Amino acid sequence: MAHKHFIENERCKGCGLCVTVCPKKVLELSEQVNTKGYFPAYQARPDDCIHCALCCTMCPDVAITITEIEEEKTEQD
Ligand code: SF4
Ligand code: SF4
Repeated sequence: MAHKHFIENERCKGCGLCVTVCPKKVLELSEQVNTKGYFPAYQARPDDCIHCALCCTMCPDVAITITEIEEEKTEQD
């Protein structure tokens, strides 16, 4: 099953908890601020994500969601 990992930039306050907890070191904090003046997390290495959901669980602002998606045409994905 394929997954979609989504970080809602405007909810993120750049605390870095998700960056710390990720076992695959997928996440980093952006160098560009969001509209609240925080540096939001983003997936710097999305191909390494194993969709373990630790980052979602840790985020105090519920800014991260992982959803299962239908696999479409991406056999190589
Ligand atoms: S789902 Fe797991 S591997 Fe993917 S970014 Fe979050 S903590 Fe890292
Ligand atoms: S844990 Fe949540 S609020 Fe903190 S940096 Fe990650 S996404 Fe942003």
